[in-house]
Amino acid sequence: MGKMSIILPAYNEEENINLVYETLKELLDTNNIPFELLFINDGSTDHTWNEIKKINDARCIGINFTRNFGKEAAINAGLKNASGDCVVVMDSDLQHSPSTLIEMYRLWLAGYDIVEGIKNSRGNESSLHKFFVKSFYKLISRLTHIDLENSSDYKLLDRKVVNALNNLKEKNRFFRALSFWLGFKQAFVKYDVQTRVTGHSKWSTKSLILYALNNITSFSTAPLQIVTFFGCIYLLFAFLLGSYVLIQYFLGYSLEGFTTVILLTLIIGSTLMISLGIIGIYIGKIYVEIKDRPNFIIKERTTHHNEMDN
Ligand code: UDP
Ligand code: MG
Repeated sequence: MGKMSIILPAYNEEENINLVYETLKELLDTNNIPFELLFINDGSTDHTWNEIKKINDARCIGINFTRNFGKEAAINAGLKNASGDCVVVMDSDLQHSPSTLIEMYRLWLAGYDIVEGIKNSRGNESSLHKFFVKSFYKLISRLTHIDLENSSDYKLLDRKVVNALNNLKEKNRFFRALSFWLGFKQAFVKYDVQTRVTGHSKWSTKSLILYALNNITSFSTAPLQIVTFFGCIYLLFAFLLGSYVLIQYFLGYSLEGFTTVILLTLIIGSTLMISLGIIGIYIGKIYVEIKDRPNFIIKERTTHHNEMDN
């Protein structure tokens, strides 16, 4: 039986740590699934780290950050340190229903490399939050062509997927979307978002907006190219207006100097906008290069190593 590593990012979850440990241990032991729990303390200001240290079980690993680096960083640390044959990322507030783990594990045994947890309901989030989350996913799927609605960070990854993720060099990651970008054989399981037992959500609307901006810009260069689009519209407009003032000029209806001013403004404006857009396209390309993502990811090999690969 393959070992399952569970990554649990924790930021101010002191009341939840032991509860999570007991719940998962009980569940996985009764189902005979060998496991390893990685608690990542993401710079909590409460006693989360003490709670993690208190767990007396060789199957539990605690990793303590020097400060709050954010959930993505905690996930990355977990992926780098997990030793299991499959790895699950899960919130440490029990909102990701633990029983789904068993279903994920079965699908993994059946040969799936990525098992995505899909939210059945969004729990008891406020309607403003729901609205924002919905618009965020609409926008991001438009810009990046990755369908993320109702997806979450709750997912199981096979060892080879984890290795592929660990080999990506970019610093600014978006775990949820990266697993789609990677490819591999995927399955989906639905789960109900549980209400938080203790503690409270760490997301404010402001931090969600920043998160959205950060992720859109790390998955798409579309915002850079918007300028070119507007530049072209402006040029068309300039052409129409320019012809109009020129006609007026030749018919003798216009004020002295007016035509020149208008024409100059229009020409300079559209030239500037289009040049900015072109620069944007180049910056976009540089950005994609600098992220240094591999152009492909190998799924399997028949022989051990082949110098021609990659
Ligand atoms: N979390 C973290 N670092 C942070 C914020 C959150 O590791 O800076 C963890 C948190 O402890 C929880 C998970 O990420 O295990 C999800 O956070 P939260 O429950 O606040 O988000 P929500 O469920 O409201 O989306
Ligand atoms: Mg939560």
